[in-house]
Amino acid sequence: MPIVTLTNVSKSYPPRTRDESEVVAVDDVTLSIEKGDVFGIIGYSGAGKSTLVRLINALEPATSGTITVDDVDITALRESELRKVRGGIGMIFQQFNLFASRSVKANIAYPLKLAGWSKADIDARVTELLSFVGLADKAKAFPEQLSGGQKQRVGIARALATGPAILLADEATSALDPQTTHEVLDLLKRVNQEQGVTIVVITHEMDVIQTIATKVAVMENGRVIEQGDVFDVFSAP
Ligand code: ADP
Ligand code: ADP
Repeated sequence: MPIVTLTNVSKSYPPRTRDESEVVAVDDVTLSIEKGDVFGIIGYSGAGKSTLVRLINALEPATSGTITVDDVDITALRESELRKVRGGIGMIFQQFNLFASRSVKANIAYPLKLAGWSKADIDARVTELLSFVGLADKAKAFPEQLSGGQKQRVGIARALATGPAILLADEATSALDPQTTHEVLDLLKRVNQEQGVTIVVITHEMDVIQTIATKVAVMENGRVIEQGDVFDVFSAP
């Protein structure tokens, strides 16, 4: 069953100066992400990957086309309803985006506080998440005391806190060395397999796709030029 679909989706940005023409960041993209997939989106810088993610996460409106998340057409929703959709999607980032002045525990608790959880429920959930990502002893640490891999584990715990069905990983391992990259990808595999979370991995690195993804879409100049099973797309013709 598809959890995310895009049908003929385009996104243009108006020219920034008089000499510039309109930028078509996403150009007539049609794709379908199935529940339980680890779906890779690969392409060079400027291909339109981040724009695609912002469209799926409803952070920006599409210029044309239809996007559904969990069978809801998000292109037809108003802001208050979009917030609910965003609540069902977790995100992790290349630069981790942790609050530097807050402890690991406070970082992970943040979305739960926003969602109005009680202190007791937050404590229990944070303990469970820290144990799942292997950082049970780091609750009181601050981000600057952690390695890059540990910071991304905190990012993953925070993204999963409210139990989203989808996790969007935008270049989530691009700031990490190869060894740490594989540890984080192993953790994402567990998130997918043990928690049933659908994962969308945006990357410019083929190795990341081949390590974790089952399906892949290849982007170039805003278009999806190829998509399918990773094995089929990347095996020689
Ligand atoms: P990728 O994530 O693959 O590097 P992006 O989605 O960031 O690609 O960018 C795709 C294209 O859209 C690029 O040409 C980029 O310059 C342009 N673009 C992205 N965001 C904006 C914006 N807010 N305003 C204008 N142009 C943008
Ligand atoms: P603090 O003052 O508590 O350290 P900042 O506002 O300086 O918090 O943000 C610290 C980091 O958290 C930054 O990298 C920022 O991008 C990120 N950040 C800010 N707001 C949010 C949010 N709502 N969700 C996720 N990350 C955020």
